[in-house]
Amino acid sequence: MPLRFYNTLTQRVEPFAPLEGDTVRMYTCGPTVWNFAHIGNLRTFTFVDLLRRWLRYRGYRLDHVMNITDVDDRIIQQALGAGQSLADYTAQYTQAFLEDCATLRLERPERLTPATEHIGAMARLIAGLRDKGCTYESEGSIYYRIAAFPEYGKLSHTDFGGMRAGARVDTDRYEKADARDFALWKAPKPGEPFWESEIGPGRPGWHIECSAMAMQYLGETLDIHAGGIDLIFPHHENEIAQSEGLTGKTFARFWLHAEHLILDSQTMSKSLGNFITLRDLLQEGYQPEAIRYLLASVPYRKRLNFTADSPKAAATAVERLRNFELRLKTEKFPDGADEGLHAAAGQALQRFEDAMDDDLNTAEALAAVFEFVREANIAMDAGGFRAGNVAPALDLLERFDSIFGVLRPGRLEVRVGDALHLSDGDVQALIAERTQARKGRDFARADQIRQQLAAQGVILEDTKDGARWKRH
Ligand code: AMP
Ligand code: ZN
Repeated sequence: MPLRFYNTLTQRVEPFAPLEGDTVRMYTCGPTVWNFAHIGNLRTFTFVDLLRRWLRYRGYRLDHVMNITDVDDRIIQQALGAGQSLADYTAQYTQAFLEDCATLRLERPERLTPATEHIGAMARLIAGLRDKGCTYESEGSIYYRIAAFPEYGKLSHTDFGGMRAGARVDTDRYEKADARDFALWKAPKPGEPFWESEIGPGRPGWHIECSAMAMQYLGETLDIHAGGIDLIFPHHENEIAQSEGLTGKTFARFWLHAEHLILDSQTMSKSLGNFITLRDLLQEGYQPEAIRYLLASVPYRKRLNFTADSPKAAATAVERLRNFELRLKTEKFPDGADEGLHAAAGQALQRFEDAMDDDLNTAEALAAVFEFVREANIAMDAGGFRAGNVAPALDLLERFDSIFGVLRPGRLEVRVGDALHLSDGDVQALIAERTQARKGRDFARADQIRQQLAAQGVILEDTKDGARWKRH
């Protein structure tokens, strides 16, 4: 079966291939930098990272643009409240977002585009829409006339036919019940930032930035547009109206939307006040890889129900995989190869790839890996695992980790409470302590040290002559 995705636009799972050559032109909505990202936001960004990695695994190249929303209603309100300029206020949260992404090993898109650096392109797009008769002005603001775009509603599969013509909405975020003509360009208000432009002074609405930046860098028709499920309406619906209203061409062929992370039966959200940040979890002592695993393990179209136990379970799963890798790399196995295990490794890889091709079914992909790990561990304990079985098992882990990215610790320098690096002397001191612990039969402490070393990329091998070690 080929690579396929669920397309919100058609409400079907469809085979995916880019329109031109082997480059996927993709736009994903980035963060609104008014505060720290919460782990719900990061769930969506982790989904985007998995999507990137899987497309590359399947041989595609990426041209991926992600915006940074650094001007909108909420940001202006917060910056005013903090007595800071828009640029100063957003710089700190942009930086925090990039750090969170690095901690979670989310690959950088080919282009990260701040909205405030593209105001000219937005004004140009609005002028184009005005020439097409899709807009009207009122008190210095410019609105999109929804009635000018009969297909309005096609992404959210909603019939807006009964809407009152001429009714307007000025806020950027609103519900379906408030569907109205929306603001493309907002008139300057006292105390608020504004820009001079070919359509007069003012500031852009939220929706126009994504249409303008997507088309500027990726052309009129994108292969994939993605974001969280709350963006389907109004944000993505409005993006379609803006882009297709101007070009008359399909704006994006595939629309992918990640379900929400839920806490206490409610969507995690800053506005509701029920949020946890990555920083909170690191402070509690969890490793970034455990959080990455947690966010990646539930398929993106299922809700991720976050509980106090979720990070613990994820940490245990990561540890299990790391222990297995360590065994493969350090234990001595008898010569030859077990046929059954050889076949099992091949089948696990096939099942892993089939699951990821199936709309990124990460739960099924993980099940394939874990079933193999269990079978191999049992064989190792029983002496049935042979030297010839090591390479296919490591290959499976390697491929798994090229997507899930949890086996090796990375970006240690930003892990709260962690030493920047362990020097060779530190490693030797820890090994000596572990040897003592083992002599004293304090296996819990010995294991803890081994894990601590593994987390820093140090592999231990116990030999007759004592422990040998090397770095990854
Ligand atoms: P924002 O910073 O509000 O623009 O949101 C950034 C991204 O996070 C968007 O793609 C949202 O759809 C997504 N998002 C917001 N809340 C959640 C949540 N609870 N779970 C998953 N994704 C979310
Ligand atoms: Zn957007």
